[in-house]
Amino acid sequence: MQFSQIIGHANLKSHLLDVVKSEKIPHAQLFIGPEGNGALAMAIAFAQLINCEKPTETDSCGICGACQKAKKMIHPDIHFTFPVIGKKEGKPPLSDDWIAEFRKSVLENPYLNEYDWLQKIKAENKQGNITALEAKNILRKLSFKNYEGKYRVSIIWKPEALKKEGNILLKLIEEPPANTIIILVAENQEDILPTILSRTQITKINRIEDKDISAALINQYQVEAEKAQRIAFLADGNFREALLLVENEDDPFDQDLKDWLTFTLNNNASELVSFMEKKAGKGREHIKQFLEYYLHFLRECMILKFSNQLNAKFTHSEKQLAERMSRFLNEEKLYLLVPLIEKCHYAIERNCNPKITLLNLSIQMEKILRGKPISTESWVERIG
Ligand SMILES: [Zn+2]
Repeated sequence: MQFSQIIGHANLKSHLLDVVKSEKIPHAQLFIGPEGNGALAMAIAFAQLINCEKPTETDSCGICGACQKAKKMIHPDIHFTFPVIGKKEGKPPLSDDWIAEFRKSVLENPYLNEYDWLQKIKAENKQGNITALEAKNILRKLSFKNYEGKYRVSIIWKPEALKKEGNILLKLIEEPPANTIIILVAENQEDILPTILSRTQITKINRIEDKDISAALINQYQVEAEKAQRIAFLADGNFREALLLVENEDDPFDQDLKDWLTFTLNNNASELVSFMEKKAGKGREHIKQFLEYYLHFLRECMILKFSNQLNAKFTHSEKQLAERMSRFLNEEKLYLLVPLIEKCHYAIERNCNPKITLLNLSIQMEKILRGKPISTESWVERIG
């Protein structure tokens, strides 16, 4: 992977290039930031750059022997650790057992999240682990001499999965062997063992800017300019999200949301049931995106209502719906509605029946929007 393939982050790329030129590469680094920001891609591109035989002023060369291997993720000195489950019944979870699947998944979409990855190995309902055995395996691999690269690099994706077994790595992280670089790629700083955190140099990787997402969609995915801009607004710096929204491009959510709100507020049970059946038929990922779209819509509605109208990111048809919706909304209702939608999103992810989950959400939503009391111990709390 090269910097040129990574969306946005111009300043960060230039900073990393300076670090490489200075030849003072920190031996333990933490790339951290929100989902869909491209942090894993950045770590892979950085590992390629530091092993490239003929780097240019702005990037790895992309054609030397090291680059050829690094771009296929098969460079013998670039190692990967990531959350996994045991490959067979009774087998301990080990990244090496899944490396072929991991390479394929990351090369297909370097912006994937942990859920996408676990889904690729049909483990989305399980907890991915980085175990003590895996930590020992990292130590073992990094104790060998470099095969051919200038640097040995260990990329640990989602170190949040390392619990106390992560302490096995402390000495390595503090004082790795010569020419060894460890890059942790994480989303949540508070979920990383403090002993590990304090031994790394932190590089924050922010959300991708809207203009960069929009340009990438236009140039790489042939999305029409206006649509690309709208998707970039919705994706909110998350390119994983942007790609999912492109897939749904022919199926815009605003009309669906309008129908849903209308059926709900009119208590139109038969329309509501057929709407839910249609939605359930489109699969979990579609419903999750629809709920994310709804959350985005509510956030923009509040901006429209309480702040400068020009700040709200709406298309023309969305704006009409938002103006209608704003009449029903206030801050108190929003505080009830948002966690409810988030819990539904979680429930859908955890395989709850989508039709029942959405129908129940509609019932609660109608009560909230109309200012009726809702039960304190609601059905979603029982699911969550
Ligand atoms: Zn090269």
